Amino acid sequence: MRDRNFLVENNAKPIWHPMAHPAEMRAQPPRIVMKGEGVEVTDIDGKTVIDAVGGLWNVNLGYSCDPIKQAIADQLSALPYYSGFRGTSSGPSIELAYELTEWFKPEGMVRAFFTSGGSDSVETALRLARQYWKIKGQADRTKFLALKKGYHGTHFGGASVNGNANFRRNYEPMLPGVFHIPAPSTYRNPFNETDAAKLAQLCAAAMEEEIAFQGADTIAAFIMEPVLGAGGVIVPPDSFMKLAREICDRHGILMIADEVVTGFGRTGAWSGSRLWGVKPDMMTMAKAITSGYFPLGATLIGEQVTEAFEADTTAFGSIGHGYTYSGHPVGCAAGLAALAETRRLKLDENAHARGEDLARALAALKAKHALVGDVRGKGLMAALELVADRDSKKAADKKTMAKVADAAYEAGVMLRVSGNNLILSPPLILTAADVRRIAEGIDAGLS
Ligand code: PLP
Repeated sequence: MRDRNFLVENNAKPIWHPMAHPAEMRAQPPRIVMKGEGVEVTDIDGKTVIDAVGGLWNVNLGYSCDPIKQAIADQLSALPYYSGFRGTSSGPSIELAYELTEWFKPEGMVRAFFTSGGSDSVETALRLARQYWKIKGQADRTKFLALKKGYHGTHFGGASVNGNANFRRNYEPMLPGVFHIPAPSTYRNPFNETDAAKLAQLCAAAMEEEIAFQGADTIAAFIMEPVLGAGGVIVPPDSFMKLAREICDRHGILMIADEVVTGFGRTGAWSGSRLWGVKPDMMTMAKAITSGYFPLGATLIGEQVTEAFEADTTAFGSIGHGYTYSGHPVGCAAGLAALAETRRLKLDENAHARGEDLARALAALKAKHALVGDVRGKGLMAALELVADRDSKKAADKKTMAKVADAAYEAGVMLRVSGNNLILSPPLILTAADVRRIAEGIDAGLS
């Protein structure tokens, strides 16, 4: 690699960064992260901080997981790539598909389709949902329902079901036939309802109303994150996902659980669907599937969809969809090692226990700082929503958000800003002492 001066001089110049304005990035160049160890990362100036972002919701096992590194090195040396398209397969992809369908059997998953990441996994689920209805002879079922504030990646399908205008407006027209229902957020909802159980009923009623308006026989699937991540860690009322499942069942609509963030223990359960006691028809996974060590995703498919595809021997049942890197042997080898380590270390249990520590610490920060309008979380995913004024809930401005995050960084904690939320999704190997460090860093930032 070239030297430090070269990197600093060219930072944000020949490269466009996702989710950022190129000119803004040049004016305020991003931190250059050079090294990771345990739950910490070190920047180009040698400053080491605790990574409360966990890469991007994905580095669940931290940066020093030797079994994953070894599995990648071994697989690179044995077979760095082979295609999973019709005609060929590879050992790690067969084994990982087996492990994932065994592991997510309680959610009803029986098949795995590999992708290169979360957006691909969402696109796969949406396309398979439409194909499912063609197989079933109900070709009119093409529409999708989703939640406002939901995030489902940035491919055209995923961005169309996204519930945030920032990811849509500049790219319109989006996929036609996508309809959004209110996000089940007790802090901000159109009903001004703060009671969780009542809010769940109101959002469910809105979903019923939209289905009646569109006609159930035109809707292919409903997609939701069990806990909405990028939208600001919105934890739906306990009953909401179950209510949505009942509505889908009543109207024959498929349910897609987007588990790209919530999969593999982040919420304190092995999946968000398991957390809420729901069996979806498909689950999208990515991120922690390799703990971020290699790009990989998977769409898991439940029994009903599987049976329809596998029973149809015509062209309708053939999957005209896939990626060069579907079933990448190195990615799947990384996935096998990550899954084994995640299970061995019981990261679901640790996410639950440390999540409770974190929730207590964040509640104390809310009590101390008027800037904090709301704190929310489940397991080790959490958000602090910053406001200029608690009564009106006016969002804190961009400058304030940057100031808080920069001060927290100076105090030794990497945070992520999303709108007026500070997002926390640290590695799931976090200790109680790490939680204290994170809370102290945020405290310093807010102060
Ligand atoms: N779905 C959810 C719930 C996500 O949070 C994300 C990314 O953050 C995606 C899909 C898209 O994943 P990727 O960025 O790997 O394409």
